This record gives sequence, C-alpha cells and structure tokens, in this order.
Amino acid sequence: MARVSRFQKSRFGHTTPTYRCRVCKRLTRNTGDEGGVTLCLHCWELAGIENTISDNGLELAREWGYVETATRLLKELRAKGIDVDTVWASLVAELTPKEAV
Ligand SMILES: [Zn+2]
Repeated sequence: MARVSRFQKSRFGHTTPTYRCRVCKRLTRNTGDEGGVTLCLHCWELAGIENTISDNGLELAREWGYVETATRLLKELRAKGIDVDTVWASLVAELTPKEAV
C-alpha cells in the first residue's frame, strides 16, 4: 500500500503563521503543503481523498484505505465541532453507500 505521510513537522518552527482553513474555518498552522492552498491538515487530506475517489472510484479508494482514513478524519473534525455534513457534504455523500432503491 503506497501511502505517503504528510504529517511531518514544519521546518520553520515557531515562526509559522496561523491562518483559517477555507473549508472548515478552523484556525490552523501550516505544517507542510496544505498551507499553500489554505487548508488545514484534515481538509488537505480529505481533499486528496475526494480527488482519489473521483479519479479511481470508491471501491479502489476503499481498497487503498482512503475510505477508512476519510471516515476517521471526518469523525475527528466532527469531534472538534466542525459541521462536516455541511463543509464536506460532497465527500460525506460519496462515502455513504448508495443502496439500490
Ligand atoms: Zn479544514
């Protein structure tokens, strides 16, 4: 399984400025690539997972562990008081199994 960790600590230490994530509005700090797109680490990961699902489909994303990761990240954001059902509505919808009606 090829999963690249983006969780390395900032090389810029304590001088890193904070900013508000444009998706969940949480005050956050750049720790890597996500600051350039004004996302927090959670939303940055979720955006990548959403792209993966749209490019490769939900089944492959599930096989690669992305669905599990997304579920965990959404749960963590929810625990922080973020209304993920609104800010990540499209992804939540993607992750919700579509049963035949
Ligand atoms: Zn965010």
